[in-house]
Amino acid sequence: MTRILILGGTREAVELAQHLHGRPGLEIVSSLAGRTHTPHMPPGEVRVGGFGGAVGLRDYLVREHIDLLIDATHPFAERMRGNAIQASRESGVPLLRLERSAWRQQPGDRWIMAESPEEAARAAPIHGKRAFLTTGVKDLAAFRDIDSVWFLVRLVEEPEGPLPLRHYELIRGRGPFGAADEEALMRRHNIDLLISKESGGESIYGKIAAARTLNIPVIMIRRPKLPDGIDIVSDIDAAVSWVEQRAR
Ligand code: NAP
Repeated sequence: MTRILILGGTREAVELAQHLHGRPGLEIVSSLAGRTHTPHMPPGEVRVGGFGGAVGLRDYLVREHIDLLIDATHPFAERMRGNAIQASRESGVPLLRLERSAWRQQPGDRWIMAESPEEAARAAPIHGKRAFLTTGVKDLAAFRDIDSVWFLVRLVEEPEGPLPLRHYELIRGRGPFGAADEEALMRRHNIDLLISKESGGESIYGKIAAARTLNIPVIMIRRPKLPDGIDIVSDIDAAVSWVEQRAR
C-alpha cells in the first residue's frame, strides 16, 4: 500500500482525491484546515485541523506511515506550504506541490498589481468608490480604515460578527461564478473597482472577465512566489503521473 496525504481546502485537492481514491494499492488521506463548516468533502479518509506546525506535520507523516505528501492548498496558503516543505525534508517523505496557474492579463484588462492586502488597501481609494472585495475574510482587516470606499464583500460562510470595514454590504456565495452573473452583480451594485487575489482557476475567473467587459480596474494582489527546489505541477493529470511514478 502507498499512503498519500493530500493537504487540501481547494477544488484541485478534492479533484485529485477523486482521481486517486479507489485505485489499487493507494490509500488517500485528505487534510482540511477546518476553516469552513460545510467544506467540499473529498472521497476517502479525511482529517481536520492543524498539525501543530512543521514539526507536528513531520511527526504525523512518520506516525501515520505516509509515503507521499501532496500539498494542494491554495496559492495563498503560504504558511502551510512552508510547513510541508520542512516536514518533507525532515521526514524524507517526497513532496509534490499542486498549484493552479495564475491568470494572465488579456487585452482590455486594467490590472493594478499590489504586493499585499495592505498595498491593495492603500490603492483602493485612488481607483474607485464602490469596490467588489473578494479577498476572503482573512484579509479584510487591511481595509478597515478606509472611509471613502463602499465595499461589496462576498464570503462563503456567515462571519461570526460584523466585518472590520466602515461601509459595506455582505453577500454569501460559493463558486463557481460565471461571467454573466458576475457582470449582472457588479452592475446591480454600481461597482467601479474589483479587488482580487491572484488566485487563478477557472471557477472564479468570471469576475475578472466581467471587470474587463465593464472596463473596471482590478487591484490584483500578487500571489506568493513558488519556492525553488521542489516538484511543482499545475494540473491533476501531472499530479496523478507523479504519484504513479512513485507508488509501490
Ligand atoms: P495558512 O495561513 O498557510 O495556514 C495556517 C495554518 O492552518 C497552518 O499552519 C496549519 O496549521 C493550518 N492549515 C492550513 N491548511 C491546512 C490543511 N489543509 N490541513 C491542516 N491544517 C492546515 O493557510 P490559510 O491561508 O489560512 O488557508 C487555510 C486553508 O484554506 C488551506 O487549507 C487553504 O487551502 C484553504 N484556502 C485558503 C485560501 C486563501 O486565500 N488563503 C482560499 C481558499 C482556500 P498547523 O501549523 O497547526 O499545522
